[in-house]
Amino acid sequence: MAEPQQQLPPGWIAEWDANNQRYLFIESATGRAQWENPADGGPAGSPPPATGSPPPTTHHAKRRQYAAGQTQAYYGSSDGLAAPVYSGPGNQLGQVPSGGAGGGQLFTPGLVAENQFASQQQQQQQQQPGGQAYYGQPEPDYINGPQYTQQPAAYGQQPPAGPGGQVGALADQFGQMGMGGAGGQKPFQIYTTNLLTSPPDPRELARPPPEIRLPPGASVSPSPHANAPFEYQRCTVNAIPTTNSLLSKSKIPLGLIITPYRSLKEGEDPVPVVTDTVIARCRRCRTYINAYCQFIDGGNRWRCCMCSMSNEVPQLFDWDQARNQPGDRWARAELNHSVVEFVAPTEYMVRPPQPAVYVFLIDVSHSAVQSGMVATATRTILENLDRLPNEDQRTKVAIIGFDTSLYFFSMPPNTTDSTMLVVSDIDDVFLPKPTDLLVNLTEARQSLESLLGRLNDMFQENHTLGSALGPALQAGFKLMAPIGGKIVVLSSTLPSVGPGALKNREDPKILGTSKESGLLQAASPFYKTFAIECSRAQVSVDMFLFSAAYQDIATLACLPHYTSGQTYFYPAFNAARAEDAVKFAHEFGEVLAMPIMLEAVIRVRASRGLRMASFHGNFFVRSSDLLAMPAVPQDTSYAIEVQIEETLTAPFVVLQTAVLHTTCYGERRIRVITLALPTTSNLSEVYASADQVAIATLLANKAVERSITHKMEDAREAVFAKLVEILQSYKTSMTAAGTGASAQLAICDNLKMLPVLILGLLKNVGIRQSAQIPPDLRAYAQALLTSLPSESLIPYIHPNFYSLHDMPPEAGTVGEQGVIMPPPLPLTSERLVRHGLFLIEDGQTMFLFVGRDAVPQLIADVFNLPSYEALRGGKTTLPLLDNPFSQRVNAIIQKTREMRRGVYYPHLYVVKEDGEPPLRLWAMSALIQDRADVLPSYQQYIGQLKDKVNGASSY
Ligand SMILES: [Zn+2]
Repeated sequence: MAEPQQQLPPGWIAEWDANNQRYLFIESATGRAQWENPADGGPAGSPPPATGSPPPTTHHAKRRQYAAGQTQAYYGSSDGLAAPVYSGPGNQLGQVPSGGAGGGQLFTPGLVAENQFASQQQQQQQQQPGGQAYYGQPEPDYINGPQYTQQPAAYGQQPPAGPGGQVGALADQFGQMGMGGAGGQKPFQIYTTNLLTSPPDPRELARPPPEIRLPPGASVSPSPHANAPFEYQRCTVNAIPTTNSLLSKSKIPLGLIITPYRSLKEGEDPVPVVTDTVIARCRRCRTYINAYCQFIDGGNRWRCCMCSMSNEVPQLFDWDQARNQPGDRWARAELNHSVVEFVAPTEYMVRPPQPAVYVFLIDVSHSAVQSGMVATATRTILENLDRLPNEDQRTKVAIIGFDTSLYFFSMPPNTTDSTMLVVSDIDDVFLPKPTDLLVNLTEARQSLESLLGRLNDMFQENHTLGSALGPALQAGFKLMAPIGGKIVVLSSTLPSVGPGALKNREDPKILGTSKESGLLQAASPFYKTFAIECSRAQVSVDMFLFSAAYQDIATLACLPHYTSGQTYFYPAFNAARAEDAVKFAHEFGEVLAMPIMLEAVIRVRASRGLRMASFHGNFFVRSSDLLAMPAVPQDTSYAIEVQIEETLTAPFVVLQTAVLHTTCYGERRIRVITLALPTTSNLSEVYASADQVAIATLLANKAVERSITHKMEDAREAVFAKLVEILQSYKTSMTAAGTGASAQLAICDNLKMLPVLILGLLKNVGIRQSAQIPPDLRAYAQALLTSLPSESLIPYIHPNFYSLHDMPPEAGTVGEQGVIMPPPLPLTSERLVRHGLFLIEDGQTMFLFVGRDAVPQLIADVFNLPSYEALRGGKTTLPLLDNPFSQRVNAIIQKTREMRRGVYYPHLYVVKEDGEPPLRLWAMSALIQDRADVLPSYQQYIGQLKDKVNGASSY
């Protein structure tokens, strides 16, 4: 049988389905999947099924679809299609009705567009019982002004297409206006979407940002890796305005999101390393040579891409030191790879590379021991000793216990002995012994293992309450300050004695008021002052916090914040619940095993005219633009606002991030990430190249900062106002409406998810308007909002929502890209049905929502229980049962936990439709398009935006 790919009509792909042992055919543009080869259509074969109609039933009889009142329905059967739709007023689940008939009232009356919106939502619902309803749904309408023409392809992305889809494109006239000096690159095209008639499609978020279109010859290398992947470095616009006034006119914030240290997944190539220590840098601006520098003077000199300085090519640049013969310049990694690492010669070292150091500060007070934290933590360290970075066998470890006293452990090498030394004077901390407290991991392995095995038992009867966390930090610091490294804090209580003691300032009365931001500021200067001391000594701090009561995360998180560490929170941790123990052990283990870049400084350089203006994330800003990071963790992001200081005359600009660091196996290196972007003097190109994910990431960082320095409501208003500005400016300059009122709410196609992302941000626990959110949960959410890379941040503000009981046959099976996920649904409870099973996840938490009319067969297949009544809500571990549906659901949950990089291992909660209200409300709060309490539904919010954009004085 011939390879099916070769016979397929354009736009179709074939994927081998291992479970069914046959090819599945997918139409890329619509996501429509079918078993028949579409090439077999025509007279002899069966015609391709109509859009939205299900594949035939015969080939996947094993697939179950659960409809109300049925024990088992099969895909495509009339029974399945007749399954009741759970929707409509009065039928809502825990939410104020919105959308449908109810949603219509929320709009300014008299506009046809609103009814279109409502009817589209209904259409989507009606298609749902088919299981693949979201595939092949009617595409939104696009604005078709008289001057617009049909275009076959959009700028940098797939055109919005599909059955009945209309694409309205601005004519080339925009693309041809004022292309700056950038002759030769393809003109940008812009597509306008009406947000009123185009509800958010979550699949849009899986698209890459708009393509970067550099002028021909910008790069000296034909390598596909010459420009930075967006996962490492992305800009809010992929065409930089030539002037600040053009940028201001667009209202789009200019910023850079960098993720300098990204974990590698299986099969991914490591970052190439330049080992010959020949490092060519501009002698004026110190830029590292890269693919955007030009060789001149017969190749003897190179012109800097940032400042145009002519520099000499180093003598050994073209010499292959390994073979001791002339080398090929064009094979050098730094000319072909945008992400590259140089082995640094000694002049890049202030001191020799230091060993990796881990000092564990373990709370051993009564509550810490009783919660099982100490037992879980020590077991996890024990189990991960071989994963702790120690390639060069220089890694050092110390363990300090604390309650209201400090407990040091002396671990002499090559014995199983260890001695505990108690220090009760916590006001003036001293080390009770000069040696054997910070020990070489390899040499002291036996005594360390023996200690970790006994530690929990030693404190089993400890009745001491209270915490001397501050003194413990000081002790740990004293121990390691000459070297630097990582302090890992595991704490179950509010610090209560000694320096850094804190008071419980949680006051329910001020939650939701303008005073609330005070609770998000540090209560004591101790932690910031101490953090800066740590930063100077190359010490980074991670905080693992476990308290059931107030722990003042806002204050404690200062320490990771300024020392490039991270805060992890396990509220009311109880290891007796297996799920708690598994989550903490998994995440802690990942942190222990994580390679880190030690003693790091990061600097971002850019072409003349651009300036790094402000910085967001976990680090300490040393001098004006040097970010000090004692340890750069993997999969953490930093946001930088960029200013256009003078007119950009070059056809493209370059932004280069350099991370000088020591690897955890003792080598000094420089990681360099180079991003080149075209410049433009054309406003439509600024919009057409804008990256909505990068913009949302930058705005999340700015909002958190503002909520702390100003008031919470200021932060929310600023974010909302920014969005209004962008929409207003777009309407005025890019649509026929100009400054007049418009019945539409227009935005370019590549930014059409920005409003819903901002809505998600406004509804995130970190900044949401509410009087019910404990300050610790807020502070933790804020720590996540300012450190998660976009890949994890986007689901955190815009969760994923899947219908499982009627998912397509391939969902949950293994395809070429691993487990196939069901299509994501829009985040509205209108999609919930009473007989259904749904998954909602935001990367931190997963909710398995079970409708109250779920048939016994579904409950039996997934939970191994006789009926819905027997099912209990709450944290759970799903059994893996001997039926295909259970296996597919488990595969989807496992894939959800693994698909993103980072250490997080989300809890899984079973949420019953009529179960505990707080849990249900929590789960439903992830459906951000619903109205909740004082927070608007998506339709209301879009209505507010439209009024604001049209200049209405109130909303
Ligand atoms: Zn230069």
